[in-house]
Amino acid sequence: MSEPSATGRFGEFGGRFVPETLVPACQELEQAFRDAWDDPIFRGDLAAILEEYAGRPSIITECHQLGARLGIRLVLKREDLNHTGSHKINNVLGQTLLAKRMGKKRIVAETGAGQHGVASATAAALMGLECKVYMGAVDVERQALNVFRMRLLGAEVEAVHSGSRTLKDAVNEAMRDWVASVESTHYCLGSVMGPHPYPWMVRQFHRVIGDEAREQCRERFDADPDVVVACVGGGSNAIGIFSGFVDTAARLIGVEPAGGAAVGRGVPGVVHGMRSFLMQDEYGQVQEAHSISAGLDYPGVGPEHSYLASIGRAEYPTVTDAEVVDAFQLMARTEGIIPALECAHALAWIVRESGSLQGQTVLMNLSGRGDKDVAQMMEILS
Ligand SMILES: *Cc1c(COP(=O)(O)O)cnc(C)c1O
Repeated sequence: MSEPSATGRFGEFGGRFVPETLVPACQELEQAFRDAWDDPIFRGDLAAILEEYAGRPSIITECHQLGARLGIRLVLKREDLNHTGSHKINNVLGQTLLAKRMGKKRIVAETGAGQHGVASATAAALMGLECKVYMGAVDVERQALNVFRMRLLGAEVEAVHSGSRTLKDAVNEAMRDWVASVESTHYCLGSVMGPHPYPWMVRQFHRVIGDEAREQCRERFDADPDVVVACVGGGSNAIGIFSGFVDTAARLIGVEPAGGAAVGRGVPGVVHGMRSFLMQDEYGQVQEAHSISAGLDYPGVGPEHSYLASIGRAEYPTVTDAEVVDAFQLMARTEGIIPALECAHALAWIVRESGSLQGQTVLMNLSGRGDKDVAQMMEILS
């Protein structure tokens, strides 16, 4: 995968649409990341933490029962087995290690469902950084357990009461804090979105998923997969696994929730410092996204996905909540793995399309474990 242009563009997408006051902070971060990424010592330190703390490399698992039932070879990349239970740890360990290298004492982060907040609080505790997490007031109420988790980990959680009091308002508030305290503070952004260098930097921190998976598939099957599938919220787990296969013949599929189809139903626009596909109403206002999984409730999508869609390299279909509920149970019953509701979206697409995938090898990114979703499923199914 290539670097964005000097202005942070992937084709016509990306860029750095921020107030004047934020430009120096973005520039400082870009330079610091470039230096770190080229420094074998930083890369070695990061690799060591990923191995000794997060548990990398994550394994791949072939789903023999489910694969036989669907008539495909189904292979999972097991990001659910990482410390804290999802791919998010790759990014937060990278960013907090970078923050320390930059001499920052404190990180701020936004969170929706709370998963990125918990991951950030975890990495901050490990690295000895102060951590403040901004969370929409509505989400604070919905996700009481994650709020408590963050506090256990030593983070401060601030409820955001502006706007719709959800994720997009938390992002704005975290950016505001960053501008006001940039001397001491790094903004640990949770997906491949935001102003340059975030979409590129976060992708580099998640590349490890695709790089490992490619080697593991070649070793185990002596071939690249025919199809690589991942769910898309902001798009970080998807871009991570796509990175390993974009220069192969594999089809790349990013599955969005029907109620958050930024690529499928969005139009190009600017939000959170980037130009990308975005769900907007007829007046150009950002629309709320809705999905059964709070982790995919983001009205935009990372700019590199918009680019991959615009050149036809990746496809972005949608699935319904009902299909996701079925897929969630199917994986639990046939493989003994409870998936996160987010990645059950990827499986839902595979199940629906299995007729046209007969005999193919399908690699799916199991971005997280489903323990966090069990209570919600219990309500849905009772
Ligand atoms: C947060 C989350 C996602 C969505 O984020 P992306 O940036 O699109 O990867 C997907 N799966 C899991 C398990 C998550 O926790």
